[in-house]
Amino acid sequence: MTQSRVAIVTGAARGIGAAVAKRLAKDGFAVGVVDLTEDNCKDTVAAIKEAGGTALAVGADVSNAEQVTAAVTTVADRLGAPTVLVNNAGILRDNLLFKMSEDDWDMVMNVHLRGAFLMTREVQKYQTQEGFGRIVNLSSTSALGNRGQVNYSAAKAGMQGFTKTVAIELGKFGVTANAIAPGFIETDMTAATAARVGAEFDQFKEAAAAAIPVRRVGQPDDIAALASFLVSEEAGFVSGQVIYVAGGPQD
Ligand code: NAP
Repeated sequence: MTQSRVAIVTGAARGIGAAVAKRLAKDGFAVGVVDLTEDNCKDTVAAIKEAGGTALAVGADVSNAEQVTAAVTTVADRLGAPTVLVNNAGILRDNLLFKMSEDDWDMVMNVHLRGAFLMTREVQKYQTQEGFGRIVNLSSTSALGNRGQVNYSAAKAGMQGFTKTVAIELGKFGVTANAIAPGFIETDMTAATAARVGAEFDQFKEAAAAAIPVRRVGQPDDIAALASFLVSEEAGFVSGQVIYVAGGPQD
């Protein structure tokens, strides 16, 4: 049976998600481009279509169960059964523990963990039916601990446990689950971090690069390249792994 080649990428309006969506489209997937609003997804969808690919803009907050169900159903109806899911949507609400509000804690948990849970629970219905699936979750080097990110670090470590458990539960249905844990990637997210600490982005990147073994910061395409492999059929024996993409080894 030919596998349905439909992928969903969340948080795909910009940054890493946009790069992953474009790469998977280039690989031949019809891509459901999910972000907070349909309008936000337009640029990514236009770029995919211009390059000859197929994409659909879908607005949904991944932490909202109803919106997630509607978004996945829309993709299934319009593009076909989604067999690939990349849980990439993410936010930062950095602060030192003693200054962190409950809202900042809850929002980060909700987007990363509840979002990945809701999306995966919905998409696995199609994957198990198809007898094939690939799930890629975005973790981070911050999972290992990072000052000012007690919420984000806990969420990104949680993504790793979530990934391993999904891999164990869904393996018998032909579904793999892996996590990509990026280091410093040049996106709006790292630009916002620079702004928050009052640094000029170019200098912030330079300082980060100096501490990275390959002496550069990462680009969204560095992550897209690995995602492309992990969702491929030939990656079927790689499951439950956390792969750091950080220009060097992590502790
Ligand atoms: P980004 O540029 O901030 O993009 C994140 C995207 O997710 C945005 O388009 C955002 O939409 C969307 N989003 C936020 N909340 C959402 C929600 N509830 N539902 C749907 N979409 C939502 O971030 P990025 O740097 O590309 O990061 C992508 C992923 O990689 C995140 O999970 C991040 O934690 C992880 N990561 C990034 C780095 C890095 O250095 N950049 C390192 C490690 C891990 P809005 O624009 O409307 O907010």
